[in-house]
Amino acid sequence: MQEVKEVNHFVLGVDIGGTTVKIGLFDMNKQLKDKWVIPTDTSEKGQHILSDIWQFVSHKIDPSTIHGIGFGVPGPVRQDIVLNCVNLGWGEVHIKNAFEAIASRDDLVIKVANDASLAAFGEKTFGAGRGFSEVVMITIGTGVGGGIIINHTLLEGKNGSAGELGHMIVDPKYLFPCNCGKHGCLETVASANGITRLAKYHLEQCDQASVLRTTPHLSAKKIFDIAKEGDLFALQIIDEAMDYLAKGLASVLLAIDPDCLILGGGVAMAGPFLIDRLRPKLMAYLSPFIRDLTIRLAELGSDAGIYGAMALIE
Ligand SMILES: [Zn+2]
Repeated sequence: MQEVKEVNHFVLGVDIGGTTVKIGLFDMNKQLKDKWVIPTDTSEKGQHILSDIWQFVSHKIDPSTIHGIGFGVPGPVRQDIVLNCVNLGWGEVHIKNAFEAIASRDDLVIKVANDASLAAFGEKTFGAGRGFSEVVMITIGTGVGGGIIINHTLLEGKNGSAGELGHMIVDPKYLFPCNCGKHGCLETVASANGITRLAKYHLEQCDQASVLRTTPHLSAKKIFDIAKEGDLFALQIIDEAMDYLAKGLASVLLAIDPDCLILGGGVAMAGPFLIDRLRPKLMAYLSPFIRDLTIRLAELGSDAGIYGAMALIE
């Protein structure tokens, strides 16, 4: 018997961040039909966040046409239960139960996963990782996150923390403290903040000439731009960050042996230059067992999360 698709039904991909909630409206053929952003109300332990989303969406479309909702949250998730989300004020949250009460419906398909993992899942399903079954994505933005897909399935891990690639210890000098409480994490030396911190540290430690010395409001983007123009000191900073990144990635790639590595996040906006600086270092560290690896830049930008969230819904 042929399955009849409800063409006038929708799936929502919702990416809940600490400041804004991104909502994607997809039809049953997984086409993005509309996209909205609403503020995240983190007051009173974030207890209004889910009802705000339902109220907003109910004003935009007939809520009875919603078949399912995939949620991405900035914290660990295991089997659709949010374990905690400091940024949202949440402790353990059973989103399906909470949302069914808000929507007064028990037939909604509700799925939840970590936001960085969902960005990876979105890229794997609809972006740079299309057609691959084993994908590792590293997201290099303000911090460093990631996601691991094995046999087309998102890896959660026992604590919902699989793919937390930013906290691999890669700096043997333990230069900077990390938000996680450790020192030497990849995030402290290769995120946008990490690269800026690295540059400021070395500017103080030496007196090598560099355009960076007279650049106001130093940022990773400026350091990349100045490095691209040939500033030797800026290039050394980028190469040091790429060395840490390569070291961490080489271990992940050996553990997972993926088809495809995707680089995403704001720092990946540096484009092919990033891959050009990273590749030789990665090849130097990478095990000879890991061959034919495809390295790509992310394609979906900040929409990767809503695509990944939607892809959770069957
Ligand atoms: Zn850390």
